[in-house]
Amino acid sequence: MSTKVLGIDLGTTNSVVAIIEDGQPRIIPVGGERLLPSVVGLDSNGSLLVGRHAYNQWGIAPERTVRSIKRLMGSGKRAEMAGTSYTPQEISAFILRRIREAAAAYLGEDVQRAVITVPAYFNEPQRQATIEAGEIAGLQVERILNEPTAAALAYGYGRDNGSEPLRVLVYDLGGGTFDVSIIELDGEIVDVIATAGNNHLGGDDFDQRLADLLADEFERDHKIDLRQNHQAWARLWRAAEEAKIELSSLPYATINLEYIVADKKGRPLHIQREIERQEFEGLISDLLDGTLDAIDQALTDAKLGADDLDRVLLVGGSTRIPAVWSLVTEHLDQEPHAEIDPDAAVALGAAVQAGIVAGEKIDAILVDVTPFSLGLETATISRGRLKDDHFVPLIRRNSAVPVQKSEMFNTIFPGQHAIHVKVYQGENSIASENVLLGDFMFDELKPNRGDGLTEVTVNFQLDINGILNVTVIDRAGRKQISEQMKASRQRLSPEDIAQSQAKLALTYAGAEDEDEDEVVVDPGVHALLERAAKILAAPGVDAELAADISEVVIAIREAVQDGDDEAVEERCDELIDLLFEAEE
Ligand code: ADP
Ligand code: MG
Repeated sequence: MSTKVLGIDLGTTNSVVAIIEDGQPRIIPVGGERLLPSVVGLDSNGSLLVGRHAYNQWGIAPERTVRSIKRLMGSGKRAEMAGTSYTPQEISAFILRRIREAAAAYLGEDVQRAVITVPAYFNEPQRQATIEAGEIAGLQVERILNEPTAAALAYGYGRDNGSEPLRVLVYDLGGGTFDVSIIELDGEIVDVIATAGNNHLGGDDFDQRLADLLADEFERDHKIDLRQNHQAWARLWRAAEEAKIELSSLPYATINLEYIVADKKGRPLHIQREIERQEFEGLISDLLDGTLDAIDQALTDAKLGADDLDRVLLVGGSTRIPAVWSLVTEHLDQEPHAEIDPDAAVALGAAVQAGIVAGEKIDAILVDVTPFSLGLETATISRGRLKDDHFVPLIRRNSAVPVQKSEMFNTIFPGQHAIHVKVYQGENSIASENVLLGDFMFDELKPNRGDGLTEVTVNFQLDINGILNVTVIDRAGRKQISEQMKASRQRLSPEDIAQSQAKLALTYAGAEDEDEDEVVVDPGVHALLERAAKILAAPGVDAELAADISEVVIAIREAVQDGDDEAVEERCDELIDLLFEAEE
C-alpha cells in the first residue's frame, strides 16, 4: 500500500484534492480541472456521472442529479436519484471515489489514505458520516480536519512550535455556505474559539439574485415567467453565475442568451443585458452585510475585539468578489490575506496535514505575489477645484500573480478629449509619492455619456514575470491602447514576507552594534579613526583627499576585523600621512 496521504476538501459546491510533492502541496486535477463540482448524477442510461457532467445534467434532469449533499451529512435524511434512494455517505463516496481514481492516474499509484476536511461546526454524527463516506470509497480516513485550520495550515501558520500564539479569523464564503471561525494556533495545538455563519448563504444566492432580476425584467417585457420553465431557468442561472464571476475582475459583463423561450406565436425570444459591477453589488449588499454580523457574533462569542486578531484569511470562491474584500477590510480595520487561491486553500492545507501524517518534509507554500500595489493617478473636482495626484490601486499588494483587474473611470471635464494615464507602484494615497512605472496619453476621446463625459475601462494584467500590461478602452470600444511595463515581483509566502521584514530590521540593529565593538580593539587605532572622522566631517576638506582618507579608513576596519595586525599597522601609517596633509 502506498505511504502517501491525500488531502481532500469535500466541499458543498466543489471538492478539491491535493498532495505534497517535493515538499510543496499541489492540487491534483480531476478530469483536467482543479475543482470537481460536488455533483453526482445518473445519465439516461443509468451510468454514473460525477463532477462537471453531473453539474451540466442538473439543468436538464434534476431528478437524476444530486447537489450539495454535504448539507445532509449526518442528518439521517436520504437523497433521491433516478428513483433510488441513497444515503449522503453513499453520494459523497461517489465523489471521493472519483477523486481517488484521478489521484491514482496522476500519481501512478493507488493512494488509499486521506485527510478530509469538514466545517468547524460539524458535530460528531456529521464527522462520523464523513469518515464512513471515505470508507465506502475505499479510503482510510487518517484525520478529519477543520476547514479553517486547514486554511491556516496552507498559510504556514501553526507549523512551528517556537512562534507566538496566533489568533486567526477565517472568513469562508463558498457556494452554499458561509462560515466564520476564530481559531488560536499555539505551536501545533489548534483551538477553535468560536464559529458563526449561515448554512444557507453563498455564491448560489448571488447567482439567484441576478437570475431573478433578469427573470423579473423578462416577465415585465414578455409576460413569461422563466422560473416556470426548468430548462430556461437553469440556463439563466448558469449565465448569471458566469456574469458574476466575470464581474469579480471586470467592471461590467454581458449576459447573452439566445432563444431562451418562444413567445405565444412560436417566435424565439432572447436575453441580452449588460450589468455593471456596482449594480450587481447592490443586488447582494444586504447578504454581504449579513456576513459582517456573523463576524461580530464570532468575536463576541470569543470575547475578542477586532484588534485582537493577528490574521484574517479569506477562503472560498465567493471571496473573490471585490466588495467582500473591501467590506471585511473596513469592518476589521486590517487587510485580510487572500494570496493563496481561495478555493484551493482548504485542500492545500489538508495536504499539509496529510504530509505530516505521512511523515513528509514540508516547505512553506510558495506563491508568486506582487509586493506592491499597482494603480493609477486620478483626479476629481471637488467644490470647483481640481484635486489631483490621487492614487487608486487596481491590483493590491500581496495579490497572487498572474492577476487581472479592471475598473471604470471617467473624464472630469465635459469635452475633455485626452487622458494622461500614469501608472504607479506603491502604497501611498498620494500618487507621486509612489514609483512611476510608466505613463502614456489616451486621446481622441469622444464623449459616451449623457453629461458629456467619457467613460473608459482600464485593465491591468500582471503576469508571473512581473510584466504589467495596461489597456485602456473607451466604453464604446472605439479606441484601445495597450502599454507594457515592468513591475517588481516576489516569490514568497505571506509568512516569509513578514519574517524577512523582521529579519531585516534585526540585521540593521545588529550591524550598528557590530560597528561599535569593532573599533574598540586598540585605543591608538580608535583615536586615529576618530581624528579621521572629524576631518571628514569638517567643512571645506579637499574632496580627493577625503576620498583617499575614507578608503584607508575602510581598509583599516577590514584589517581589524580580520585580525591582520600587520595590515592594520601599515594602513594606520598611511592614514597618519593623509591626516597630516589634510590638517595643514
Ligand atoms: P464550497 O466551499 O461551497 O464547495 P467554493 O469555495 O468552491 O465552494 O466556492 C464556490 C462558489 O464560488 C460558487 O458559487 C462560485 O460561483 C463562486 N466563485 C468562484 N469564482 C468566483 C469569482 N471569481 N467571483 C465570484 N464568485 C466566484
Ligand atoms: Mg469550502
